[in-house]
Amino acid sequence: MRRWLFLVSLGTGLCTGCARPSTSEPSQLPLATRAPGPTAVLPIARPSASIESADRSQAAVFPPPVVAVASEASTPAPELSRQQIEERLLAGTLGCLSVGKPNGGALVNGVQLTRSDYFEPVDPKSSWGTDETLAYLEAAARKVHEAFPNSPRLWVGDISREQGGRLSPHRSHQSGRDVDIGYFYEQPGAWYRRATPSNLDLPRTWAFVRALVTETDVEMIFIDHTLSRALWRYAEDLGEDPAWLRRVFATGSGEQPLVRHARGHATHMHVRFRNPRAERLARQAYPVLVKHELVDKVQVYRYHRVQRGETLGKLAKRYGTTVRAIQRANGLRSNVIQAKQSYKIPTSAAPGTTDSVSLVPPRRLPPSEPPPRPAPNPPAAPPTPTPESP
Ligand SMILES: [Zn+2]
Repeated sequence: MRRWLFLVSLGTGLCTGCARPSTSEPSQLPLATRAPGPTAVLPIARPSASIESADRSQAAVFPPPVVAVASEASTPAPELSRQQIEERLLAGTLGCLSVGKPNGGALVNGVQLTRSDYFEPVDPKSSWGTDETLAYLEAAARKVHEAFPNSPRLWVGDISREQGGRLSPHRSHQSGRDVDIGYFYEQPGAWYRRATPSNLDLPRTWAFVRALVTETDVEMIFIDHTLSRALWRYAEDLGEDPAWLRRVFATGSGEQPLVRHARGHATHMHVRFRNPRAERLARQAYPVLVKHELVDKVQVYRYHRVQRGETLGKLAKRYGTTVRAIQRANGLRSNVIQAKQSYKIPTSAAPGTTDSVSLVPPRRLPPSEPPPRPAPNPPAAPPTPTPESP
């Protein structure tokens, strides 16, 4: 049996492979300088000078609002008994499992993204995801190709390894739900080429981002703020609903925007999907996975910011662990800890108890589009109050 070790972190895990998200996210982008666009009007892309030439001759005409495709992969996980899960797992018919979290998890029965009309994987070894993730990618790219025939392939960097787990140099990309994707450029270029507002193919890139938001259960998209500003302005000029655009791009409105700034994302965007089915199934199957040694028992961590006067002994007592375990988790060689520093605290929780599978919220759709489907049944456990960082 294959074994691999993975860790689940509660708290501050970040995709360092895509650089740390900056704490200085862009505040609201300038909107006041433009006249308000028409509301609830279907966006009809006006061909800009940049797309009138050569193969970019088709103006994007977005189709009328349709109920977003609820692919088979995005249907809620079935209610299965533990015995049914065990039988299907051992028979190889359970399907994809996204175990744990993106910054501490595993992928079971993953699917490999291969070269297609839409995508060009950079490294096949790290192009494994869940079927939901791959279906979402395909659905979003299909929208671009429908609106702009003859679109180039998008480069796809790392998703996950075949069995997930740590994928250097990233902290995330562990559970088949994170994808690094190149941008559409005015002149198609190499993977990891730096995008700027002037070389970015705004119509195609916006069509792709828009489809990620409307057609998939996207959790968040990291894009450099210079590019997201340009995309926001472009979308506004198309006549997209301003209030909806604020829900997609703006910080400070009480909910996290879907498109967020993170340093290092001018060369590619980092997309994280929620997987209503693969996450929920994985949580249901977790005891069976451990029993059959398909995954090692998950070590769940939480983070503690040390106050003046606290000691390792106090922390161990408070969290029901040992000084040695905290030392090991943090690579400490002595008892010295620093105030105002955060330390990893091992807990005995299993994934899905304190660390519940993310509830999949309703998609943020523009006002002209009806909700695609009811949100899947929420998992039984309450959502964790611990804030999650990407
Ligand atoms: Zn990434």
